[in-house]
Amino acid sequence: MKTVRHSEHTLRTALISKNPALVSQYEKLEAGERRLMNEAFQPASDLFGPITVHSQSDWITSHPEPPQDFEEFFSDPYRKTPSPEKCSIYIQCIGPLGNTQIISEEYVKWLKSYCEAFFYGLTVKLLPPVPVSATKCSFRVNENTQNLQIHAGHILKFLKKKKPEDAFCVVGITMIDLYPRDSWNFVFGQASLTDGVGIFSFARYGSDFYSSRYKGQVKTLQEKSSHDYSVFDNYYIPEVTSVLLLRSCKTLTHEIGHTFGVRHCQWLACLMQGSNHLEEADRRPLYLCPICLRKLQCAIGFNIRERYKALVRWIDEESSGTPGVTPKHSREDNVNLPKPVEAFKEWKEWIIKCLAVVQN
Ligand SMILES: [Zn+2]
Ligand SMILES: [Zn+2]
Repeated sequence: MKTVRHSEHTLRTALISKNPALVSQYEKLEAGERRLMNEAFQPASDLFGPITVHSQSDWITSHPEPPQDFEEFFSDPYRKTPSPEKCSIYIQCIGPLGNTQIISEEYVKWLKSYCEAFFYGLTVKLLPPVPVSATKCSFRVNENTQNLQIHAGHILKFLKKKKPEDAFCVVGITMIDLYPRDSWNFVFGQASLTDGVGIFSFARYGSDFYSSRYKGQVKTLQEKSSHDYSVFDNYYIPEVTSVLLLRSCKTLTHEIGHTFGVRHCQWLACLMQGSNHLEEADRRPLYLCPICLRKLQCAIGFNIRERYKALVRWIDEESSGTPGVTPKHSREDNVNLPKPVEAFKEWKEWIIKCLAVVQN
């Protein structure tokens, strides 16, 4: 295992920059906010630590990219910032997310409220869910894994057409695996920054995808059925667990982070680190390092303390609905699906430590 450790000076410059205008912008932040962000270059910080590289297949070794410090982010002419007219993040479900309609509905509400806390200050809206057939995308059975896959690029075209007027971005989510082109095995997600659309699949985040007992294997897909979307009826959906929810929240916020022009983080352990495989994605934390946090704050304008409080509230809230309001369920009465947040508990402790620094 290797550690990517930057000097105090490098981290300080990446965060604050040497540009006098950006330094003075930094100095105008609340004292508590600066105290928290300055943890980036405290060698003994127990909040932020270096990136660890475990193998040659890890992102940082296999995809060399130029790093992006705050100043580079700030002066990037192509990055997109939400405007009062375009300040909503839309989530579009493609196919069911859970095995019953209720689970699907709850699941997407958990994701919506999570994104609302994470991108604090922006509105997150749900587009009515659509079946795979509505997208008219191509699909196939993967030769190696025998699971159904849908064409990511076709989904992006569909999302672009549906993008509402007030959308900052539209993210499609699905439990069906994706492929970007015929010669590729699979892809976790694909996005177009210029169009502000992305599609992400959580199919491989279930506990059994990589096991031989995976129930999503399709034996044959006959020629004649290439336009017959009935293969998706009752197709296997992984069970909703706390780990699946955690992985989905991480992917969604990482990918939406890119739509603001935040590139892969190479400074500290951070949600915005690139990841090449599931094990590496699991190792990546849920939180933003101070450099990426400043980028997001600059784009959205939130108060860091209020944002952390909202994230703690999300973990504490049992269900997705407005507190005190019982969710309406038309077909099954009194269904109260608790939000599986066990996997987030450790993170909650971390946020509370950050809050103590911000509020001190
Ligand atoms: Zn990424
Ligand atoms: Zn970062």
